Amino acid sequence: MARTINILPEHLARKIAAGEVVQRPESVVKELIENAIDAQARSVTIVVRNAGKSFIQVSDDGIGMSPEDALTAFERHATSKIATDEDLEHIETLGFRGEALASIAAVAQVELKTRLAVSATGGDVQGDALGTRIRIAGGVRELVEPVAMEAGTSVTVRNLFYNTPARRKFLKSDATEFKHVFETVQRTAMAWHEVAFTFVNDDEIILDVQSTPTYEQRIRDLLGEEFFESLIPVNEGSGSLRVYGFVSKPQFARKTRTEQIFFLNRRFITSRALSHAVYSAYEHLVEKGSFPFFVLFLEIDPGRVDVNVHPSKLEVKFDDESGVYREVLNTVRRALGSHDLAPPLELAGDKRLSPSDTVEQGRGDQRGSRIDMHLAFMRSSSESETASMFPLSPRRETKLSIIPRPHEFPVSTPPGAGVVDQEEPRIWQLHNKYILSQVKSGLVIIDQHAAHERILYERAVQMLERNAPLSQQLLFPQSVELSSADFALVTELLSELQRLGFDLQTFGKNTILISGIPADVRIGCEARILQDILDEYRDDRGEVSLSIRDRLAKSFACRAAIKAGDPLTVEEMRSLIDQLFATSIPYSCPHGRPVIVKLSLEEFDKFFGRT
Ligand code: ADP
Ligand code: MG
Repeated sequence: MARTINILPEHLARKIAAGEVVQRPESVVKELIENAIDAQARSVTIVVRNAGKSFIQVSDDGIGMSPEDALTAFERHATSKIATDEDLEHIETLGFRGEALASIAAVAQVELKTRLAVSATGGDVQGDALGTRIRIAGGVRELVEPVAMEAGTSVTVRNLFYNTPARRKFLKSDATEFKHVFETVQRTAMAWHEVAFTFVNDDEIILDVQSTPTYEQRIRDLLGEEFFESLIPVNEGSGSLRVYGFVSKPQFARKTRTEQIFFLNRRFITSRALSHAVYSAYEHLVEKGSFPFFVLFLEIDPGRVDVNVHPSKLEVKFDDESGVYREVLNTVRRALGSHDLAPPLELAGDKRLSPSDTVEQGRGDQRGSRIDMHLAFMRSSSESETASMFPLSPRRETKLSIIPRPHEFPVSTPPGAGVVDQEEPRIWQLHNKYILSQVKSGLVIIDQHAAHERILYERAVQMLERNAPLSQQLLFPQSVELSSADFALVTELLSELQRLGFDLQTFGKNTILISGIPADVRIGCEARILQDILDEYRDDRGEVSLSIRDRLAKSFACRAAIKAGDPLTVEEMRSLIDQLFATSIPYSCPHGRPVIVKLSLEEFDKFFGRT
């Protein structure tokens, strides 16, 4: 049977092509707002009915179009934004494909009104006295006439997909479609703070923001004061890549991924890789399965990204994706690290920390930098020679003695007793488990095991990345017999274990010889620690997302860290605190549990009725 190949009729070709650009009311709204912004609008008004299914109107006060351009604008591949191949390599506008108006007009009833403005740049464009009205439905032009109007453009789209019933059926409920439209309007408004936006749905004003000089103010306007307080500013970079915006404090992480917003050169984009970079920056700060909110702007030379990956323009390709990934990760990590993230404790009530509590607290010193907090500890740290020695400092044999030796606990001596320098930070160990210390704003409580775990974890990660193991050689190498499963695991992890500082050799069947151990491990415990690490590592296998190294570092940190129950001297506590604050994220252990909590003086005062 002979096949016949036909060229599709124009209107059908248009309909098919339109499907890629226009998937739902939201796509129409997005394209029309982008056009308004590209036309240098200072104010954009969006009106929809039935979540845009029956009616969408976007009006702007931008440069407008001449009557000729207004007609051309509906042709496929009609654009004023690029002209040459080189232009495509340096896209600086939101639109460039010349498809939106043609596509929308193919699947809806469209009315365009536009009047050319006097050139804003003082060029030779004269501006028109009258505007043009054009009506197109299903790609067929129905009317062209002059119309009296203000300069600018207004596009009205009625009955989307009226001629493509299959498409129309796929639209979701009004509520769902509205949500998409709203998100698009809100995002665009986030990225374009100098433009005023008004958004009306079924005669209700949903959003109304004035032009503002800063993106910070716009985000505050859009998200509200209270939400804004839960954010940490990010702002770094220069030249080839700038990253700025806001990320949420870890305790405000949510269970859904909806609000993770990236703008690339002010274009909303989605990128799994970059989202992953942000999550990685939160490392162990948020529980598994919850995600921080963020809105981050990336500014990059347009020549270094390709935005022409898909008609929706949501995906982009970077020429150096891993470089951008690292930059985002490090920027967010630094922003988080420079913040005091210790959660406040409340004396009254036993409730767990909840976001709304912290918002209120956030107005206090909660926002202070962690540097302030460390300074409060630091008064005499220069006297402490033990800083780097701490993990190696000899352990007292007896763990039974909990009787404080007064000379080691000068800080617990009553003030004025003369023994203590008043400037000395006050440090106590509580039940050989917690370290309490006075800071400017009140009391800080540190979990000694979790703190040490954090320190060792970061050190282990570094060692695994470097290739210069810090190992202490044993006087008498020790041979250890393992189960065959553990032996196999050691063989598998051998090079990683060596980087950590274990000097190991396999030695006959299921036996290994330990001749050196990591500097952080107590001599005498080498066999047990190795065994513990293997056990912990195996237990952790479920966490597939973690790399071998990360898992090993966690296991090592957990097993080599001082335990609850280990008595510490004041020097050791001080050294622990110093090292803790030298880590990138002192506020949580590698398992995500808190390391530090704060109890503010205000809380004490409230509790004792002193307010
Ligand atoms: P693109 O935005 O990719 O160029 P569109 O189909 O969205 O393609 O628009 C086609 C052309 O119509 C644009 O290049 C622009 O010149 C003109 N245009 C569209 N909307 C507006 C507007 N609101 N104000 C001024 N010109 C517009
Ligand atoms: Mg466009």
